[in-house]
Amino acid sequence: MPITRPACCSKPIPRRISTAKSGIKPIDGKIFWHLSGEYVSEDLTKLKVIVAMQKAFAKWQPYFAATFEPTSDASKSAIVIRFMSNDDEEIPYQFDELTLAYAFFPEGESLGIDSDMYFNDAHNWTEMHTDDGFNLFKVAVHEMGHAFGLDHSDDENDIMFPTYQANDDVIITADTVDGLRRLNGWVPSIEKPKTDFDLAAIFTKGEKSLKRLYSADLRAISEMLELKTHRRKNDMAEAIAARIAG
Ligand SMILES: [Zn+2]
Repeated sequence: MPITRPACCSKPIPRRISTAKSGIKPIDGKIFWHLSGEYVSEDLTKLKVIVAMQKAFAKWQPYFAATFEPTSDASKSAIVIRFMSNDDEEIPYQFDELTLAYAFFPEGESLGIDSDMYFNDAHNWTEMHTDDGFNLFKVAVHEMGHAFGLDHSDDENDIMFPTYQANDDVIITADTVDGLRRLNGWVPSIEKPKTDFDLAAIFTKGEKSLKRLYSADLRAISEMLELKTHRRKNDMAEAIAARIAG
């Protein structure tokens, strides 16, 4: 790989990253995720980071029997997401200069560091690819692949290709889906995504539908955002609008 292009993952690969033998084990049919309130992005608001992560999990959802669910409780989270720099004492591994992010492979229910994702806050994170900014959603989809136990792909079009491609394309190829099937042990139904709702239609139907859509997620997201009750509606509306735009 060309050295001048940023890599999604660090080399040498962190401990456990090349040793996944199985995928994440869900808890009660759910894979919980949590955005750290301590190690946050300097570039994007928490809301924008959460929207990017929701979009990224939604991208993988069709290939999972378990559902992804945000939680404000880090201790029950399979995947904890942190933005860190090499100055942070608690960083598990230093980032190479060109490393955008890294993630750990799963181990059982992944309640410790396993499946956690670390984004290099020294880079400029953006909602879309720009000349000097990296598309967070895109890199998150890649790191989630590792958090699920996937290794890199040598297909430049696949999201698991090790270096960041300077565009907003996010493609999960059939090979990568096969890899997931090997890890998770069942056949995903590509034709029938579980999250096949019409976001635009829900948005125009108003707040009641919005709340129904987010009934499972609203509280956890609000808590992660540390929102006051009266601000929830506007912030969630903004999140929905961002999802539609994305
Ligand atoms: Zn990678």
